[in-house]
Amino acid sequence: MTLRHAVAALALTAFAASPASAEPLKVAASFSILGDLVAQVGGDRVKVETLVGPDGDAHVFSPSPADAKKIAEAKVVFENGLALEGWMSRLVKSAGSRAPVIVAANGVKAREMKEDAGHGHGGRDDDEGGHAHPIDPHAWQSVPNVKVYVANIQDALVAADPEGKADYEANAAAYAAKLDALDAEIRAAWAKVPAERRRIITSHDAFGYYADAYGLQIVAPQGVSTEAEASAKDVARIIRQVKAERIPAVFIENVTDKRLVQRIAKETGAKIGGALYSDALSGKGGPAATYLDMMRSNLRELTSALQS
Ligand SMILES: [Zn+2]
Repeated sequence: MTLRHAVAALALTAFAASPASAEPLKVAASFSILGDLVAQVGGDRVKVETLVGPDGDAHVFSPSPADAKKIAEAKVVFENGLALEGWMSRLVKSAGSRAPVIVAANGVKAREMKEDAGHGHGGRDDDEGGHAHPIDPHAWQSVPNVKVYVANIQDALVAADPEGKADYEANAAAYAAKLDALDAEIRAAWAKVPAERRRIITSHDAFGYYADAYGLQIVAPQGVSTEAEASAKDVARIIRQVKAERIPAVFIENVTDKRLVQRIAKETGAKIGGALYSDALSGKGGPAATYLDMMRSNLRELTSALQS
């Protein structure tokens, strides 16, 4: 092939790869983990704006005018659902958006938080006007759940941009294969940790789906949201529990206050493990800049603290 032919061929390839130099589809995602998943499925056809960024707390978030602008410009809005983003519906309304709001966790089997047995409600909680058990929003901590997210994201992108159907399906299939490999890796690593050592403390209760999927026991002084502070009574109860059950390690999360977990470690002698990424990715240079990296980073921190 002559140089001229090669250049012409290159030009043709470039042209074929970006038909009619289409603008990417603008979409918004509520928080960093979901933003990464949408970007994986969307590929080059999609531009994702994320509202709650790296190390940010999606439970308690005050949207700014810049966030309203991202929503107003988005053709599709993605949220986790399961009551994570209590602020979203108001934001979408105030932004004047008519974009579909896609609940990524739709179809996932939600975990309900059981009423604490120590509260003495006689086993019923309908004495407060029938209030329901809180739903645990952290479904992304189980890899099989994220495959449900990916399928929902694919369907929503195909609906918004039917011309990209083949691309979205190919991206989703490739990413689902990576998720399967990740899931197998997590199971293999936990299989090497004795069952009686698979017990940890985290500050807020973000690893329930992880625990159910991979066989851990988690104790958390704060509930499933970071909104409510742990009570002195809850902290005292956990300190007793760590001592009585000899729970080997406590972990700090990237989105919560360190001091509570540090105090529990100090009073019980439990080891402080590394930082876990529960509700947000790390920044670009950090150990958890993507969902896949986040799950691997958490796995390393958890198993290395519990093995020895
Ligand atoms: Zn959380």
